[in-house]
Amino acid sequence: MIATEKFVQDCFDRFNILCFNGELPQIPIEMGRARKCLGKFHFCVRRKFLGKKEYYGFKIIITKAVDIPETELEDIVIHEMIHYYIAHKNINDSSPHGTVFKAIMNSINQKFGRHISIRYRINPDADCLAVDDLNTSCNKTYLLIVTTFSEGQCGVTVCAKSKVFELYRLIPRYYKTKKMELFLSNDPFFDRYPRSNTPKIYKITQADLQSHLPGALSLELVRNVIRPKSH
Ligand SMILES: [Zn+2]
Repeated sequence: MIATEKFVQDCFDRFNILCFNGELPQIPIEMGRARKCLGKFHFCVRRKFLGKKEYYGFKIIITKAVDIPETELEDIVIHEMIHYYIAHKNINDSSPHGTVFKAIMNSINQKFGRHISIRYRINPDADCLAVDDLNTSCNKTYLLIVTTFSEGQCGVTVCAKSKVFELYRLIPRYYKTKKMELFLSNDPFFDRYPRSNTPKIYKITQADLQSHLPGALSLELVRNVIRPKSH
């Protein structure tokens, strides 16, 4: 079926009571036109005192451009509602589909016989790099190549999204690299570095890396696809 706002709203109300004890306040529901991204949970983040984060501007976007079986659509809506639950309760998860997300998803699947899943979709050409359905468009994201040099020092390159494959290939040709890692971060700390189109690396201290990388999503390049790193 093609999703309608009424269908999504009905799902939201039904599963809010069934799976979330009715704890989720109403939020805007929008119908999207994306063909690759079936659902999105949209939110904004602001930093508060002592580095605490506050989430706001919630909305759920479900595509109306793709014909999807009804139960699968329901599972997509519930998937977005799990993101909403975690943000609404201000729960810290290890990544967008981290331990907390998976625990809630598995418990709902088991209790209610659902088939909610995690599908990663990354489109490096999009205005906003959306990891699967999770959209942080209010918050700038930074695609980082972190290089460890053979002498042990580290450097960072904030890549222009369209250049990441090229830069990943070029950096080892210009520098003596020991290790290269790729991350997606929304930490405003990385705003100090220009977005690179060329293989330029800025030195960064271990202390800065340790305080600004833990929240980032670890990515890998597999052929010509960027995807969250499988551990
Ligand atoms: Zn998701």
